[in-house]
Amino acid sequence: MVKKIDHIGIAVRSIDEARKLYESLLGLKIAETEVVEEQKVKVAFLPIGDSEVELLESTDPEGPVAKFIAAKGEGIQHIAFRVDNIEESLAALKAAGVRLIDEKPRKGAGGAKIAFLHPKETHGTLIELCERED
Ligand code: ZN
Repeated sequence: MVKKIDHIGIAVRSIDEARKLYESLLGLKIAETEVVEEQKVKVAFLPIGDSEVELLESTDPEGPVAKFIAAKGEGIQHIAFRVDNIEESLAALKAAGVRLIDEKPRKGAGGAKIAFLHPKETHGTLIELCERED
């Protein structure tokens, strides 16, 4: 079902602050930034090999990323697995009894279709399924 790690979502207080590490020191480059209003988040994608780092900065103190940082501090917030057909993947997981945060895919950054599985079902890791054109 899963093809590869599409990206790793990392919650940071400030993309401008974090980019010093990721760009100047680690040598990655922000390829694009985007505000995803629905998620109250600004994202920056840094390609790394066949995958990407996704930096997540909250645009609202009540947003999910702000709540994550308040509870756990900055750090890895989710891991996104690429699938070919997200509707089929969600249907298969649901049929197997896996609890889903998103029963239907929603629009993510970069025109992707995304959906989250419930972390109680995934041994504590927030897993995002992601379908997109390469
Ligand atoms: Zn993501």
